[in-house]
Amino acid sequence: MAFENLSERLQAAMSKLRRKGTIKEADVKEMMREIRLALLEADVNLQVVRQFTKRVSERAVGAEVLETLNPTQQIVKIVDEELTKVLGSETAELNKSPKIPTIIMMVGLQGAGKTTFVGKLANYLKKNEKARPLMIAGDVYRPAAIDQLKVLGHQLDVPVFDMGTDHSPVEIVRQGLAVAKENRNDYVFIDTAGRLHIDETLMNELKEIQELAQPDEILLTVDAMTGQDAVTVAESFNEQLGITGVVVTKLDGDTRGGAALSIRAVTGKPIKFTGTGEKLTDIEVFHPDRMSSRILG
Ligand code: GDP
Repeated sequence: MAFENLSERLQAAMSKLRRKGTIKEADVKEMMREIRLALLEADVNLQVVRQFTKRVSERAVGAEVLETLNPTQQIVKIVDEELTKVLGSETAELNKSPKIPTIIMMVGLQGAGKTTFVGKLANYLKKNEKARPLMIAGDVYRPAAIDQLKVLGHQLDVPVFDMGTDHSPVEIVRQGLAVAKENRNDYVFIDTAGRLHIDETLMNELKEIQELAQPDEILLTVDAMTGQDAVTVAESFNEQLGITGVVVTKLDGDTRGGAALSIRAVTGKPIKFTGTGEKLTDIEVFHPDRMSSRILG
């Protein structure tokens, strides 16, 4: 699981304080040095690490903390609060349209786990809200992607709208939305093409779909295993499209997790869900406070 190493190191840094009777400013500095190194080694973005350590240090070294009855407990609480802030403070709910359908456009690089996530979210909404989604197969460059979506649709008993690979994605989305309106589907998922790298053609096509569909959510899927690249990808998709949220997949893998910790602070856009495995049920709503507690132990 992600964060194991980071967790251990942060806990070790803080437990040193616990063993001391009184805590001096130098002890806090020493702890912060260790926390800083642990975050950098977990691949957290440098700017994010700097801001975080600055905020914790400012709050933790004052007399009002160090001279209280239980300074260690207070310092641990400050670290927890500041890490929660880095992760976005509040749980970000899915944006919903006041009238059906809520349109969710999925974007991301190929292999990030986008199509899998469409299935996971459709399943999640069906279970939790008895939703009746429609999935639109807009990735016309990979026939396998359309098949993959159809297989998911079959498994979940969710209709998939596709027009094969001979029409433009914009046309497919236009017709798919009309079908959704007719059938009164409450959610529409638009699965779009992903490339191996971000390129202008991909972005232009996504912008056209965005303009036509006016989605309530543009969810970017990023692969946690790609480390800082995931953060760079998030930044450029956000600049180009103005994403509304991020899905971080493959947090079950042997990843250092730093990307997941940096994305919110770097892009200003919330992580809404995480993917924690290949199964359709391996989806979690992202709660910044719970994630922080999990990391800090
Ligand atoms: P897309 O190209 O972005 O649509 O990516 P896919 O949905 O086809 O996923 C690519 C691969 O990643 C597949 O083998 C998925 O099973 C796998 N995958 C997707 N999400 C997760 C996850 O959260 N954890 C793990 N371990 N694998 C995942």
